[in-house]
Amino acid sequence: MPPISDRIAEISAKLPRGVNLVAVSKFQPVEKLRQAYDAGQRRFGESRADELVAKSAELPPDVEWHFIGHLQSNKVRRVVAAASVIQSIDSERLLRLVNAEAMRINRPVDVLLQVHVAAEETKTGFLPSELIDVARNCATLSHARIIGVMGMATNTSNPRRINDDFAAIARVSENLRKIIPAASAISMGMSSDWPIALSHGATIVRIGSYIFGSR
Ligand SMILES: *Cc1c(COP(=O)(O)O)cnc(C)c1O
Repeated sequence: MPPISDRIAEISAKLPRGVNLVAVSKFQPVEKLRQAYDAGQRRFGESRADELVAKSAELPPDVEWHFIGHLQSNKVRRVVAAASVIQSIDSERLLRLVNAEAMRINRPVDVLLQVHVAAEETKTGFLPSELIDVARNCATLSHARIIGVMGMATNTSNPRRINDDFAAIARVSENLRKIIPAASAISMGMSSDWPIALSHGATIVRIGSYIFGSR
């Protein structure tokens, strides 16, 4: 496994202008996040509220924290207080809770609506048509700003299926922008499939094990 700094440099060199890397640091020790930070990485992704809060207290304040896991309503308070972006909004109720909390503490938060296109039942997110309905209902919330979509391809080695999934996420993004033109972020692509995601217009890639090693 090459040093973390080499992996970050390698990925960064391959990202087109305007595409951001979120280093997915879930389950990794803070020491590894520091190595990434020292290599210039400023966006980190965490999937558990407690872990995001604990790590955010240990890293410098200029880190931008992205929450990428399933967010339970009893964790909204902690996550809204610490995250810059919540990528994993998967119900209208959750989105309204996030907005209410962000309003309460006067700390606006950017959110992505998670879309479910993968074959696995276990993955969460809106069906494409549901996502569009929620965008219509929630386009003008005051403190939770919908900036785009997040999605995952099916966990498969079949490149055609992965291509189809990313194409489907890109289509949802197109439809979302008809309702909220500024919601142009497309978060897709992980360690195994991010080059394919880029070819479908990803603007955020979320890469964990390729940078930090296995969890
Ligand atoms: C863990 C995770 C990633 C990163 O996965 P890797 O395969 O380690 O790159 C990306 N997105 C989400 C939502 C995750 O939970």
